[in-house]
Amino acid sequence: MAMASDISVPPNPPLGGSVAYFDGTSSRRRMVTLRFADRLEINDGEQALAAWAYADIRRADSPAGMLRLNCLTAPALARLEVRDTGLANELVSRCTNIDDHMIGRRGVAAIVGWSLAAAASIVAVVLFGLPLAADRLTPLVPEAFERRLGDVADSQVKTMFDAKVCDNAAGQKAFVKLVTALRESAGLDTSVQSGVLSSSVPNAFALPGGKVYLFNGLLAKAENADEIAGVLAHELGHLKHRDSMRGLIHNGGTSFLIGLLFGDITGSSALIFGSRTLVTSSHSREAETDADHFAIDVMHRLGRPAKPTGELLLRVTGKEGKGLSIISSHPLSEDRLARMSRQDPPASGPPLLTSEEWRSLKAICGGKS
Ligand SMILES: [Zn+2]
Repeated sequence: MAMASDISVPPNPPLGGSVAYFDGTSSRRRMVTLRFADRLEINDGEQALAAWAYADIRRADSPAGMLRLNCLTAPALARLEVRDTGLANELVSRCTNIDDHMIGRRGVAAIVGWSLAAAASIVAVVLFGLPLAADRLTPLVPEAFERRLGDVADSQVKTMFDAKVCDNAAGQKAFVKLVTALRESAGLDTSVQSGVLSSSVPNAFALPGGKVYLFNGLLAKAENADEIAGVLAHELGHLKHRDSMRGLIHNGGTSFLIGLLFGDITGSSALIFGSRTLVTSSHSREAETDADHFAIDVMHRLGRPAKPTGELLLRVTGKEGKGLSIISSHPLSEDRLARMSRQDPPASGPPLLTSEEWRSLKAICGGKS
């Protein structure tokens, strides 16, 4: 009749065994205990070292007999190594997305299931450094993979710029209205995601997997909805042409490509390099010109002028702006303005936003408009 025996055991005892932890910033290996709370708590004695959300935990390659884990929101090289089978099973059952980053779970299966042509192209890039292979490879990258990559890049970018998505309700409504009009004119489906980020950097960019971000710093410098609409349309052009994916393959380096080949992207520090590359360096000049033409077409189909966007970019950069993704690879903002002004008909369609919606959009990050 030992009714109390079940509850005499603490519900969440610290679990030890042989769990090793690397914090990702030093090479020091620490023996730790784990505790299953709302998140996975990693402790060294009394000292709390880290807490990982179960949904962010991913499996990494490991030798037999060991479960090796990393976490999307932890430093890229942070690792947990678990040798106790019972504990490993418990972790696997709690971490619902543990294998989300695997293409078909196993490297070899991934390659066969994906495409031999893609694998051959990667090998060509790695061995011979053929940048052209990036063009051939990009169309072969599965969209699901690109989306996962985009999600990781997304959190890196927010961390890098210390930015969050602004969500003032009226501003968000206006932004959605604007993006929806542009997206439909661009012939893109509803999988496009977009937002305004609370960074004062005057920039905008597209991420792999269908995300477009506008930085509040650029919005702050804009004087009307057409100026911003053209910028967003330009980024939609990059999405449509999958330029970010191409840029990642091109600039991401050998280890990134090997990670791509084996489906292990989250464990790769190259990914950080890659997502940095996304926003600090640039697309090819050709890709930029194409995106500009795409934007001009999108605006004209809506009966709106493209020239205001050229004026915005010139205002932001002066004559030789560089270092911003929407700007840097262009020879001169003046040339862009010329391109956008050429055969630019006067507005024939209704304004994309009412003046009240425009004011709401300007205030989307809570600053003064
Ligand atoms: Zn661009």
